[in-house]
Amino acid sequence: YYNNSSVIFLNGKFVKANESSTDLYSQTLHYGYGVFEGIRAYATENGTRVFKAKEHYDRLKKSCELVNIPFDYTTAELVDATYELLQKNNLSDAYVRPLVFCDPNMSLTKPNNVSIMICAWEWGAYLGDKQLRLTVSSYCRPHPRSIKIEAKVCGHYVNSILATSEAKDNGYDEALLLDSDGYLAEGPGANLFFEKEGVLFTPKLGNILPGITRATVLELADKLGIQVKQGLYTPEELESADSAFYCGTAAEVIGIESVDDNKFPKNWNDTVGKKLLEAYSQLVRESEKTLSTKY
Ligand code: PMP
Repeated sequence: YYNNSSVIFLNGKFVKANESSTDLYSQTLHYGYGVFEGIRAYATENGTRVFKAKEHYDRLKKSCELVNIPFDYTTAELVDATYELLQKNNLSDAYVRPLVFCDPNMSLTKPNNVSIMICAWEWGAYLGDKQLRLTVSSYCRPHPRSIKIEAKVCGHYVNSILATSEAKDNGYDEALLLDSDGYLAEGPGANLFFEKEGVLFTPKLGNILPGITRATVLELADKLGIQVKQGLYTPEELESADSAFYCGTAAEVIGIESVDDNKFPKNWNDTVGKKLLEAYSQLVRESEKTLSTKY
């Protein structure tokens, strides 16, 4: 992820990654009490653009608020810091990882002080570009009354890691998690869509992370005149679908070939998902205006 010359943003300064350290008595390290983001930057005709930078830093702030972590930065400051970070590391197509972590405090109380770091590295398509063979996980997503499901909290990802390793140990590419009532929820790091008779379906918000890619896909579907329904859907409804895909910042839009023994009948190239993948790939390379003042 980094080499000897990699630079990170740490509490307002740019420092060398391999000369940075952190305290061992952080609540983030012991309890998973911290929040993070996953963002992608793309090379465009007008230089590097951080895709949906505002949305990601707004969600970082919202995550902090939801779990009572103090956070003083503005989205604009962090967008600027991200562009500067990419430039300092000579990165263009890159994955950007901001992390808000707590300063030393071993009690289970709210933190007084936190640190923020942003790092970036080159990262190809997270789930590859082949269509995925999924398996329904034995783990369900955390119940929204146990945690703040809408916040991107470090500790929540133990659930994602367990589900991913279980799926891979059983010979699949990726997991599909249900919610605690048995309805379709999401992947360990991506949101789910499925197509039936030309209409798209996606689990509604409430038991899932509100994905920024999910929101982008909804906008693109609207532009392309594709009807989308949001609700609570069962695994049986997915089983009778024509096609399905996952979407997320790291994974982008990726087709699903099968869920357990059930293969989707439609050829990926003929699906609504493929159309949305093309529209998404085009959109991320367009030079959007960002909040940044400097770039
Ligand atoms: N669900 C989960 C559990 C995730 O970790 C992610 C990745 N952040 C997503 C969905 C997709 O979210 P986004 O499109 O904002 O990356």
